[in-house]
Amino acid sequence: MPGHLEAIVSLQKTLTELNAADLRLNSIPDWMLELHEEHAGRKAEIDTVEAEGTAADHVRREAEAALADAQEKQKRYQEQLGQVSTQREYGALLKEIDTTKNQISSSEQAAIEAAERKEEADNKLGELREAFQDLDNRYKAELEKWESEKPAVADAVKQLTQHSEELRAAVPRNILVLFDRIFDRGGGEALARVRKMNVARGNPMFHCEVCSYNVRPQVVVEIRDQASLNQCDSCKRILYWEDEE
Ligand SMILES: [Zn+2]
Repeated sequence: MPGHLEAIVSLQKTLTELNAADLRLNSIPDWMLELHEEHAGRKAEIDTVEAEGTAADHVRREAEAALADAQEKQKRYQEQLGQVSTQREYGALLKEIDTTKNQISSSEQAAIEAAERKEEADNKLGELREAFQDLDNRYKAELEKWESEKPAVADAVKQLTQHSEELRAAVPRNILVLFDRIFDRGGGEALARVRKMNVARGNPMFHCEVCSYNVRPQVVVEIRDQASLNQCDSCKRILYWEDEE
């Protein structure tokens, strides 16, 4: 398949740039990665303490509700004390009163402990938030900077996409099918450069830069002189030649 190697090389280069631009647009940029991770870590810490506080508050409210119930029961039992007629009923009621006393005491204790935990969490939260302020401001500033860089990158993505489509339009379909298949299988890299190995004596030898497999001199001639499409015998990538500086 002679003649289309140049277009294929351009297409690969354009797609590589497009991938890089796409990645830049859709992932945290390198220059703010460290701050992003620190910010996320501290934010998670704050969220955890906040959740602890909320949980403690929930426990306190439940304990207070149980306490109110037990106090209500206690009051009813006290009233019933004057109405019982037998010693046995009296004894049973006293036992109930004793049980509710224990409930009151344990609910009170639970409510106090939960309130303490909530207060502790609130204090810690206040400290964490205060310490977080500076980091958060720096992070917001960097986010803003990133946002301001995005339109240019989005523009590059658009232009590279358009350019790749133009290049594809100039290449026969069967070659595109081959290219796309190798591109997908090769993790976004369909090409392999041919490297020349200078040997001390005799003819130079060539090999595939990706997998190091030998490339026959005849193949090199076809690539260089006829721009024909040849695949590496081993890794199957399309071979190309680039004159060394
Ligand atoms: Zn190879």
